[in-house]
Amino acid sequence: MQDNIKLKTINLDLFYGKFHALKGVNLEIKKNAITSIIGPSGCGKSTLLRVFNRMNDLIESVRITGECLLDGENIIGSQAGLNELRKRIGLVFQRPNPFPLSIYENVLYGVKIHGLLEKRNPDEVAEGSLRKTGLWNHVKDKLGDSAMSLSPEQKQRLCVSRLIAMEPEVILMDEPCSALDPIATAKIEELAIELKSRYTIVIVTHNM
Ligand code: ADP
Ligand code: MG
Repeated sequence: MQDNIKLKTINLDLFYGKFHALKGVNLEIKKNAITSIIGPSGCGKSTLLRVFNRMNDLIESVRITGECLLDGENIIGSQAGLNELRKRIGLVFQRPNPFPLSIYENVLYGVKIHGLLEKRNPDEVAEGSLRKTGLWNHVKDKLGDSAMSLSPEQKQRLCVSRLIAMEPEVILMDEPCSALDPIATAKIEELAIELKSRYTIVIVTHNM
């Protein structure tokens, strides 16, 4: 596989029971770039994103054939390393979904449950992650406040910060702006452009 390809699907088919949702998908996702997936509602965009971090494993009726390569290794059907995979490939949801905890606890939530804080200073992880999403200056004096007090755009930035704290390689975004107004949307899109030098980004969007 070429060095600049992070993810690649080969003849990928996905069935929900008898329903054939993804048909022969052959796709290459480049490293350190933003790849947009655009298409009508119900065409399988979210389903495809969920293939990349194996979220479909949670749905009993799902059957997948074909391959999905991450850095050249097939992730379909392998039982090993699901936790490892979810650390490498994070998903940002349509609706910002911070937890009803403080801003500080939200940023560190993923790293804590994955046991990734042992060799890292929590304050530094929190600050670094909040800086990368441009949220630090807004929240540095109120890290103990509830995440629920933030605006929708800030909540979405916080969810991206929470992912970045895990040092992922790929960030999947499923219509991350659909709950935001146009100004907030533009800002989240600018954020994606800033992040692409460090991460591989796949974004489902309606916004050309
Ligand atoms: P999109 O994100 O492009 O709107 P989805 O990936 O959500 O599309 O859905 C693709 C198709 O698969 C749709 O027809 C949808 O109804 C169906 N589908 C999605 N999730 C499930 C599921 N858990 N069980 C059965 N069918 C599903
Ligand atoms: Mg969808």
